[in-house]
Amino acid sequence: MTDTMSVEAFQAEAKAFFDANAEPRGDEQFQWGVGPDRAGILDEKTTEQELADLAAAKEWRGKLFDAGLAWLSGPKEFGGRELSTEHERAFAAIEAAYRFPAQSQFGIGLGMIAPTILAHATPEVRDRYLRGVERGDILACQLFSEPIAGSDLAGIQTRAIRDGDEWIINGQKVWTSGAQYSDIGEIITRTSPDKPKHRGMTMFLVDMHAPGVEVRPLRQITGGASFNEVFLTNVRVPDSHRLGDVDNGWSVALTTLMNERASIGGSGGGFSFGTARLVETARHLDRLDDPIVRQGIADVVIRNRVAALNNQRAMAKILAGQLPGPEMSIAKLSLTQNGQRLGDVLTNLIGSRIVADTGEWGMYAANEIILGIPGMRVAGGTDEIMKNIVAERVLGLPKEPRIDAHAAS
Ligand SMILES: Cc1cc2nc3c(=O)[nH]c(=O)nc-3n(C[C@H](O)[C@H](O)[C@H](O)COP(=O)(O)OP(=O)(O)OC[C@H]3O[C@@H](n4cnc5c(N)ncnc54)[C@H](O)[C@@H]3O)c2cc1C
Repeated sequence: MTDTMSVEAFQAEAKAFFDANAEPRGDEQFQWGVGPDRAGILDEKTTEQELADLAAAKEWRGKLFDAGLAWLSGPKEFGGRELSTEHERAFAAIEAAYRFPAQSQFGIGLGMIAPTILAHATPEVRDRYLRGVERGDILACQLFSEPIAGSDLAGIQTRAIRDGDEWIINGQKVWTSGAQYSDIGEIITRTSPDKPKHRGMTMFLVDMHAPGVEVRPLRQITGGASFNEVFLTNVRVPDSHRLGDVDNGWSVALTTLMNERASIGGSGGGFSFGTARLVETARHLDRLDDPIVRQGIADVVIRNRVAALNNQRAMAKILAGQLPGPEMSIAKLSLTQNGQRLGDVLTNLIGSRIVADTGEWGMYAANEIILGIPGMRVAGGTDEIMKNIVAERVLGLPKEPRIDAHAAS
């Protein structure tokens, strides 16, 4: 049952919490040359920075959760408040006015793994993990992609073989964001290689600290190492940690993937490189009168505005209790295509400054965007795959031929 607290009373409660625990943001206008010259899309941190930021993020999330302000719509039995979407909107508006430690490390756990646990896990697993994931005590990662299975996720080779009340998992995953500090991972495995490939997979929740799990960092073009290869050698997982039925992993994966697109696309565009920064970059480089640059800036602003409005429409559907669907593929696609347009405008602006970091303020942030956007066009389903989904499920165009869909894996 939904909490009956009025939105006004809840706003007062949330505001009192932020007043007591966080600094107001105040008027944070962008000023050229002031503050960090950073606009990174992926984390580019040293291990020490990463651990310090993680500790601060956990402390903040713990406080928020204990005050009943972390999982507003969640079931009370797992620490949620069962409040309405109106309460969530009111909270988001209040939260945006305060400064507190970044929460990006929780994105996958909260946005993708927790909804999947809630929808598909056994009562034992829900009891054991949901509260911890929502409180920020347990970090989670998504073990889907493999060296030969990305867009074609159903081509995965990692095997799970039953052994009494346990399963034994062997294989390799890749591009696993945040695996280096995760406690659990949602892993898709092949359980029936003799069945058509979409019908022979099973999903589990694996303990990332279990014997046989080895995490190796992968260095990104932008400098950091926020994702990893994960090797699994004879890793034992209790059957109670299975998500959904045996051989029904594909439908569990769809729950996670839809939530992933909602999380990535729902941010509305603009990345951390706002209009003011873009205009000031052009002014600094004395290009504000250049008609091509002006047209590019206007295009970026208009595209972001349209994407934000489109997202509001998609979010309204989610907030009304419906599952995120192909709309989120549109949201994800516009986010990355608009990002690519921003990258192109910046490339035109900074020109040869792309080649080396001279220390000139503003150029590093522009470079981070130019180099970081291509990764976003791949993460969570590539632009081409999003176009296929939009073509088939939104526009009703004929399906792509899928020659191996009915073959055994
Ligand atoms: C920043 C980042 C974070 C990530 N984090 C995670 C994570 O936490 N967990 C995880 O499991 N994975 C993660 N991934 C992996 C991501 O999901 C895959 O990279 C993505 O699904 C694409 O798969 P692939 O790299 O194997 O490319 P491929 O599937 O091999 O694609 C190669 C090219 O072929 C195109 N292509 C493929 N199939 C088609 C088709 N049918 N029609 C048209 N074009 C096609 C693609 O668009 C692409 O341009 C991450 C990736 C990035 C970049």
